[in-house]
Amino acid sequence: MPLPLAVSLDSVESFALTWLPIVFMGLIVLLIGVTLRHMPRTKPQEIKPESSESIEWGDVAGVEEAKDELREVVEFLRDPKRFRKLGAKVPKGILLHGPPGTGKTLLAKAVAHESKAKFFAQSASSFVEMFAGLGAARIRRLFRAARKARPAIIFIDELDAVGATRGKDISGEKDQTLNQLLVEMDGFAGADDLVVIAASNLLDKLDPALLRPGRFDRQIFVSPPDLKGREEILRVHSRNKPLHGVDLDLVARQTSGLTGADLANICNEAAIFAGRQRRDVVLMADFEGALERVVAGMQSRRVISDHEKRVVANHEAGHALCSEVLDSVERVHKISIIPRGRALGYTLNLPEEDRYLKSKDELSDYLVVLLAGRVAEHVVFGAITTGASDDLKKVYEISRSMVAEYGMGTGLKSRRLPADDFSMSDATRREMDVEQEHLTEQAYRRALAIIMENRPLLDELAHTLLENEVLDRTEIERIVAVHRGRPFVVSPAPGVGPRIAAAERLRPEEAE
Ligand code: ADP
Ligand code: MG
Ligand code: ZN
Repeated sequence: MPLPLAVSLDSVESFALTWLPIVFMGLIVLLIGVTLRHMPRTKPQEIKPESSESIEWGDVAGVEEAKDELREVVEFLRDPKRFRKLGAKVPKGILLHGPPGTGKTLLAKAVAHESKAKFFAQSASSFVEMFAGLGAARIRRLFRAARKARPAIIFIDELDAVGATRGKDISGEKDQTLNQLLVEMDGFAGADDLVVIAASNLLDKLDPALLRPGRFDRQIFVSPPDLKGREEILRVHSRNKPLHGVDLDLVARQTSGLTGADLANICNEAAIFAGRQRRDVVLMADFEGALERVVAGMQSRRVISDHEKRVVANHEAGHALCSEVLDSVERVHKISIIPRGRALGYTLNLPEEDRYLKSKDELSDYLVVLLAGRVAEHVVFGAITTGASDDLKKVYEISRSMVAEYGMGTGLKSRRLPADDFSMSDATRREMDVEQEHLTEQAYRRALAIIMENRPLLDELAHTLLENEVLDRTEIERIVAVHRGRPFVVSPAPGVGPRIAAAERLRPEEAE
C-alpha cells in the first residue's frame, strides 16, 4: 500500500530537522580538534641539556687560535672559584664567526665536552616561529633552564637567523626574539658560571647591539684552515680509515681555500671510492678521485668536438707555460682537458706554502698567467673564444684591486677607495681606469712574448695534453726538461725592444 505523499515528506523533514544540526555540530567539533592538533605548542617539553657527543679538542684541527681562546673558557668553567678569587671577570658571551663549515659548531661542542658543563644547544632558526612571541618565550625558557643547571653553556647556532639588524623584519617576530636575547644577556652577571656561545657566518650582518660590551663582546674568528691545518684536519678524518700510501700533505696542498667540512667530505668520498672498488684500503687514487669530485664538481658527460679539445689544450698549455717560466708563480701541479662542471679544462697551480702578502711583481706575474690561456689560443689559432671569460674576470678583479686597493698603479701612490665609491670624481675614476688598463696591457704583452718565444714548448705541452688528457707534475717536468737545452726566454720589461714590437702585431684587437 503506497504511503500518502504528504506523510512521507513530513517524516523526512522532521528527521532532517532533528539530526542535521547534530551532525553539523559534530563536524565543527572535529574540525576544531584537528586544527588544534596542528597548532604549534606554546608549552613544549621541558628544555633539557644535550647529552653532548664526546667531541674532544683533538677532533677539531687547524683552528689553533680559536682553540687557544676557548681553552680559557673551558678552564674557567671547570674551576670558576680559582678565577673569581683573583677577581677575574668571566667572559659571558662568545661569538664564533667565520665561513660555513669551518668548525664553529664543532668547537662549541668541544668546549662543552672538555669543560663538563651542561650544554644547551639551540639553532636560532628554531626561534623564528610562525606565531609572534613564541621565539621570545623560547629564549626565556632556555635561559631559565640553563641558569638552573649551572655551570652551563648555552649555544646558539646560526645566530644570523635572529641576529640580523633589527627593523628589517616585517612581522617583528625576529626583532622580538632578538630583543629578548639581549634582555637575557644583560640579566646575568659574568659570575654566573653561565657562558653563552653563539655561531654566525657573517659578523657584518649582525645587529651591532649584540656586539656591545657585556653581550657577545668576545669575538673569535674561525678561519678556513691553512696548509698545515688542512693536513691535520685530513688526518683527523682519516683516523678510522685504512689508508695505504696516501700522501695527505699533497692532498692538503691541493685543497687551498677549502673548509674543514669540505675536507671531511673528501675523506669520506675517498673511502666510498675504495669501497666501490671492493678494496679494503684507501689509496691515493681514491683521494684524487674524491678531490676531483669535490673540488671541481662531478665529471660532466658533455661531448666536446676535436677542435674544441685542441683549443682547450692550447689554452691550458698557455697557462702552464707561463706558470713554469715565471718564477714567482706557483708550479703547475696538474693540467687537464677533461671537462668538469662549467670549465672545459683547468690548470692547477700549487702554492709552496700559504701566503698572505703578495708583491706587485707577483700579482703582475699572475695576471700574465691568467691571460696566457687566451693569448695561446690567439697565437695558435688566430682566433679567440669565450673560454677565457673566467680568466678575464679574474684579471679584471685583480688589476682593479691593484689600482684601487693596494696603490700599485704608477700614478696613484696610495689611494684606497672602493672601485664603486660614488664620491669619487670622474677624473679619478678615469685615472684609475687608465691605470688598470695599463697593468692589463703590460701583462698581455708579457704573456704574448713568453708564448711566442717558447712556442715549441707550448706545442709540446698542448700535444701531450691532447693525447693524455691529463698531465701531472712529473710529466710536465719531463716535457720542460726536454726543452731545457734551450733556456726559457723571459722577456724584459715591456715597452721597449723590437721583439715586443713584433709581438704586438699579433694582438687580437688589431686582428679583429
Ligand atoms: P660550521 O658550524 O662552522 O658551519 P661545523 O662545525 O658544522 O661547521 O662543521 C661541519 C663538519 O665539518 C664537522 O662536523 C666536521 O666533521 C668537519 N669539520 C669542520 N671543521 C673542522 C675542523 N676544524 N676540524 C675537524 N673537522 C672539521
Ligand atoms: Mg654550524
Ligand atoms: Zn683559462
